[in-house]
Amino acid sequence: MSRKANFYAGPSTLPLQVLEQLRDSIVDFDHNGLSLLETSHRSPMYDSVHTDAKALVRELLSVPEEFSILFLGGGATLQFSMVPLNLLTRDNHCDFIVSGSWANKALSDARKIGNANVLFDGETSGYSTLPTDICCTPGAAYLHITSNETIDGIQWQSLPDSGGVPIVADMSSDIMSRPIDFDNVGIIYAGAQKNLGPAGVTAIIIKDEVLDRCAEGLTAYLSYRVHAEKDSLYNTPPVFSIYALGLVLRWIKECGGLSAISQRNDKKASRIYHAIDSSNGFYTGRAERHVRSNMNVAFSLQSEALEQEFLSTAQKLGMLGLRGHRSVGGCRASLYNALPLEWADNLASFMTDFAGKKGY
Ligand code: PMP
Repeated sequence: MSRKANFYAGPSTLPLQVLEQLRDSIVDFDHNGLSLLETSHRSPMYDSVHTDAKALVRELLSVPEEFSILFLGGGATLQFSMVPLNLLTRDNHCDFIVSGSWANKALSDARKIGNANVLFDGETSGYSTLPTDICCTPGAAYLHITSNETIDGIQWQSLPDSGGVPIVADMSSDIMSRPIDFDNVGIIYAGAQKNLGPAGVTAIIIKDEVLDRCAEGLTAYLSYRVHAEKDSLYNTPPVFSIYALGLVLRWIKECGGLSAISQRNDKKASRIYHAIDSSNGFYTGRAERHVRSNMNVAFSLQSEALEQEFLSTAQKLGMLGLRGHRSVGGCRASLYNALPLEWADNLASFMTDFAGKKGY
C-alpha cells in the first residue's frame, strides 16, 4: 500500500506501526484466543490495557501524583458541559479566554450552566492572536483556555500565569506535542483523535483539589467524582480506543518522549511557515507570528480559485486534508505528532514550487 500524506485536522494520521499492531490484535489479542473487542472491560486482559495507558499518560507528561487520569467518552465537547456542571455554582463564576472557534463553543456551553467572564476575545483580530497578560477576576473558580485553536491555527507557547486560579485547558489538538508545566493546572482535557489515537476516548487529567470541589449530586456520567472513584470503569469505557491510545503513547516513548517529539514538531512547522514567509505574499499565514501553532498551520492564497487549484494539485500528488475548516475557508496543514517530517518537507517543497509556477 502506498500511504497518502494525511494532513487532516482530526481524526488524523496515526503511526503506521500502531495501525499494524491494531490490525494484528483485532482478531487475536496477545495470543489470548479472542479479540479485545469481545472481551469484558472487567477482565484481567483489559485491566492491563487500562493500567498501562494511564501509566503512560502519567510518565510521558510527568503528571504529578496529585492528579487523577480519566478516560471518558463523549469527546472534548462533553467536557464543555462537564467542567461547568462540576465546578460552577450559583454563587461563583469562571473566566474565559476566547481565542477562537473552540473556545467560543466551550464558552457558549458554560454560559448555559453558570456565569462566565470573558477576559479576552480575539474576534476583532479574526482570532489571530492571544493576550500577553492575564488578570483573572476575584473569586474565579477557574480560567478556561484552549491551548491550541485547531481551526484558527493559534497556540499558547506555554500555559499562562493565572495568578493561582486553576487553569482548565482544552488541549485536544496539542496534548503530548510538548512537555507541560502543571503548576497552575486544574484540569486538562483532550479528545484523542489528533495526538492520542482514534476518536472515541477523551483523556482528562484533574487535580485532586479540584476534584474535591466538584458538585455532588450530579447524574453519574456527568460527575468527575464518580469516574475518579471508579477509575473510569463506572460504565463500559471505550476499550478499543483506550488500547489504541496506549499503543500511540508507547510509540511516542520509543521516539524519545515529549522533548524529542516537540523538537520534531518544531522542525515540521518551521518548514511550512518558512514556505509561507518566503513566498513574497503568495501565501498568507492566518496567525500572528508569536502565536503560530505547531500543530495546525492555517494559511490562505490570494483567491479561492487559486486555493482550489492548490488543493486539487496537492491531492493529485497524494497530499490530503489541506482544505481549511468550512467555517473559515483557506487552507490548513495539520502536523500532529504522527506526521512524518518527510511529509512536511514534501508539502513545503510543493508550496514553494506551486508559488514559483505562478511567478512568485
Ligand atoms: N476542542 C478542540 C480544540 C478541538 O479541536 C475539537 C475537535 N476538533 C474539539 C474541542 C471537539 O472535540 P470532539 O469532536 O472530540 O468533541
